Amino acid sequence: MPSASQSLQIASFVRGVPDFPKPGILFRDITPLLANAEAFGAAIEQLAALLVPHQADGLVAIESRGFIFGAALAQRLRLPLLLVRKPGKLPRRTESVAYQLEYGSDCVEMHADDVVGGARYAVIDDVIATGGTAAASAELIEKQGGVVACCAFLIELDFLGGRRKLAGRAVESVLHY
Ligand code: AMP
Repeated sequence: MPSASQSLQIASFVRGVPDFPKPGILFRDITPLLANAEAFGAAIEQLAALLVPHQADGLVAIESRGFIFGAALAQRLRLPLLLVRKPGKLPRRTESVAYQLEYGSDCVEMHADDVVGGARYAVIDDVIATGGTAAASAELIEKQGGVVACCAFLIELDFLGGRRKLAGRAVESVLHY
């Protein structure tokens, strides 16, 4: 278990930026954390410690900041890294899941031959806000016969209740706001 002081140290490298990308949103900027090797390393260690009990066979990282954490964790845990991308970015045949946004809808895609049936995957992203992106990513794994071992985030915005959209799946977060 990470100590309170470790969490405190990591939190001090996450900057709250008011009114970005639109008025009323407090954006949690992780770039100061990435710019400090000690803090980034501590974040990866804490995420790795949360992931280990879930015994994932692979990691599924969500575009784009999820790639940063997913890549470091995949190497740290010696696990395969699969990518969830926005539409039109992956070159081979894809599977997709659409999901609702506040206004309109969006879509996540994976290469159709990436998920191994019955294998356990951990979904990785920097922030869970409303949970829509992570829930669509989890659905995309399950639709292809994979099992969602857990969904892990550096930051969870508790007040948005995103984990409710992931009901029935384990959810782990290092920092809570
Ligand atoms: P969600 O509402 O959970 O589907 O969030 C979608 C994506 O938006 C996540 O991958 C986050 O990286 C990003 N995001 C949403 N809200 C914030 C926020 N307040 N600060 C930083 N990133 C955010």
